[in-house]
Amino acid sequence: MPHKRLFIPGPTEVRPENLAALGRPQIGHRSEEFRALYGRVVPKLKSVLETKERVFLFTCSSSGVWEAAIRNCVRERVLCCTQGAFSERWLHVARANGKQADALRVDWGKAITAERVDRALSQGGYDAITVVHNETSTGVMNHLDEIAAVVARHPDVTFLVDAVSSLAGVRVPVDAYGIDVCLAGVQKAFALPAGLSVASVSARALDKARGVENRGYYFDFVEMLKYDERKETPATPAIAQIQALDAQLDDILAEGLDRRYLRHDALAQIVRTWARRHFRVFAEEGYESPTLTCVTNTRGISVADLNRELGRQWAQISNGYGDLKEKTFRIAHMGDTQEWEIRGLLATIDRILGL
Ligand SMILES: *Cc1c(COP(=O)(O)O)cnc(C)c1O
Repeated sequence: MPHKRLFIPGPTEVRPENLAALGRPQIGHRSEEFRALYGRVVPKLKSVLETKERVFLFTCSSSGVWEAAIRNCVRERVLCCTQGAFSERWLHVARANGKQADALRVDWGKAITAERVDRALSQGGYDAITVVHNETSTGVMNHLDEIAAVVARHPDVTFLVDAVSSLAGVRVPVDAYGIDVCLAGVQKAFALPAGLSVASVSARALDKARGVENRGYYFDFVEMLKYDERKETPATPAIAQIQALDAQLDDILAEGLDRRYLRHDALAQIVRTWARRHFRVFAEEGYESPTLTCVTNTRGISVADLNRELGRQWAQISNGYGDLKEKTFRIAHMGDTQEWEIRGLLATIDRILGL
């Protein structure tokens, strides 16, 4: 079967150079070579995250780091902001780990506003909050700067942020926003194969973790810190993935973060303009995601048929999430995607649908 170019919101298309980087020889994870690799990757990640705090590498997908953030940084009660499938799942993870978790819930397609967060946190009793920056099931991106300003007024609350489908496609200045844990997997806007995740962890979060019971074993931040000091990870990490990340971070920084973010904005504009001409954009106005567009299926097309035909030709988009399966479809424009690819995709869709 010929390769279908991926325009789905994860995993995203990986360039051949980065696939080749996965094939480099293995190195021992307690070796000088590994410490050198770790010592190259982590500072580059810190510049992407705009942080001077620690950055840890996790051998798992983002869901694992959801669990890590909850296990290490929630003492008792956490407020989970939910607005779609992924943010709902982080709430579920909090409860599955035995924490008291309340939902601050808005309708799918809507954004979490700073006012709502302020009101909920002002009731008191929460020692942490979870926010998904960019809700991948609905294509809504919250105004994280405004939410951050409100969370900063509640100094006892640990600020946990999922930037899985925004980081490396949208600016997330971790320290300026006072984020305690900012997590992302590399198979979205980093445009690498799935299986590795990264997170910044603030000194404040590490202090708190020391006093939290049942942090577990695999994701214990206190243990990860010890190994970070010597540029290693507690267990054998996904070495090939880290080698590919090393290569891709060089390319990301060579492109320039600002240019990378502008490219994402430009691609989003093209897809949104197309979507508004033929359909509708699902996200509330002013909160449309720069990394993916969720399109409301106002024409009642068969999303499954469209995707099957696209697949026969060369590309793959995503149907809607869960209940939105046929009611919406999603086009990702994140990672290393270029304008010619997006224009080619939209032209192919136009031809298939006779638009
Ligand atoms: C993809 C995604 C996740 C979960 O990622 P997994 O890699 O499946 O663990 C979490 N949050 C958001 C916003 C996502 O887009």
